[in-house]
Amino acid sequence: HADTAHHQAKNQGLKTLFFNDKIGRQARERFALETALQTAIHNEQLRLYLQPQYDNQCQITGFEALVRWQHPEQGLLLPGRFIPIAEQSGLIIDLERWVLKQALMAQQQMSSPQAHYPISVNISAKHFATEDFIATISELLSETQANPGLLVLEITESLVIENLEAVVEKMDVLTQIGIQFSIDDFGTGYSSLVYLRKLPIAEVKIDRSFIASAPNDAVDAEIVAMIHKMADFLNLRTVAEGVETQEHVNFLSERFPNMLHQGFFYSRPQPIQQILDQLTQQALLSST
Ligand code: C2E
Ligand code: MG
Ligand code: MG
Ligand code: MG
Repeated sequence: HADTAHHQAKNQGLKTLFFNDKIGRQARERFALETALQTAIHNEQLRLYLQPQYDNQCQITGFEALVRWQHPEQGLLLPGRFIPIAEQSGLIIDLERWVLKQALMAQQQMSSPQAHYPISVNISAKHFATEDFIATISELLSETQANPGLLVLEITESLVIENLEAVVEKMDVLTQIGIQFSIDDFGTGYSSLVYLRKLPIAEVKIDRSFIASAPNDAVDAEIVAMIHKMADFLNLRTVAEGVETQEHVNFLSERFPNMLHQGFFYSRPQPIQQILDQLTQQALLSST
């Protein structure tokens, strides 16, 4: 008996040791990533990717800016790996400033006499809440000479929960210079339809979890229909996120002909240069 007890205690000890070591390793990895991210922002390791959005005629109506990190050892990292770290450490503010500037420069590069495209940029609650958020945006606009009317800021409801009035006030100032707002991932979180009415927004993006199941799930289909109906009534655009299959396209365009589509079915997020090449090619094709 004593032997078994001893054995168990030893096992327990080993487990704890192993567990602690695992936590230690995760903490070290996280810290290392945070330190590296700091350098990455200033050493041109971030990459701007763009994913197009389409209307029901398959015409591009705009793009969403999605950041990637070309890590020197780990390769191209997706935002899921580093955005949470950036948010917790405060690096998100510098990171989003970089994204905003690149997006505004891309907007300029994509503007021609024939066409121009709005670009949507994701803004964290932490960044939006900074005192000089409006000043930052104005500075970037004047530095890049970009058109504020082609800038869409994607926010989430988490921004609003705390202080609706202060948030609306800030949004109003930016709206007055032509910037548009979009609510991202709508349907998750609190998703109060009241937000659609109270916030000065131009667009609602319906979370991809609903789009994924809508064709085969009557309840999710009704949720999409309800959000769309309310948005339509308030003259807001709706964008379906995560349109992945022909089935999604058919279902959505049949029921909601004015809904915009974004997803892998049409295009993955791509580096800016690829987008520019495609646009140039299309302009050449349509002009001959
Ligand atoms: P999001 O803003 O909801 O962006 C859409 C995400 O869905 C992107 O993931 C995009 O690649 C992915 N996606 C697009 N179409 C499809 C599809 O058909 N199927 C599936 N399964 N996914 C699709 P990504 O690029 O990995 O970005 C993830 C999230 O990271 C974004 O979600 C956004 O919340 C955040 N993020 C990206 N860039 C920034 C940024 O500059 N600032 C902040 N704060 N967050 C960012
Ligand atoms: Mg987004
Ligand atoms: Mg989204
Ligand atoms: Mg989403």
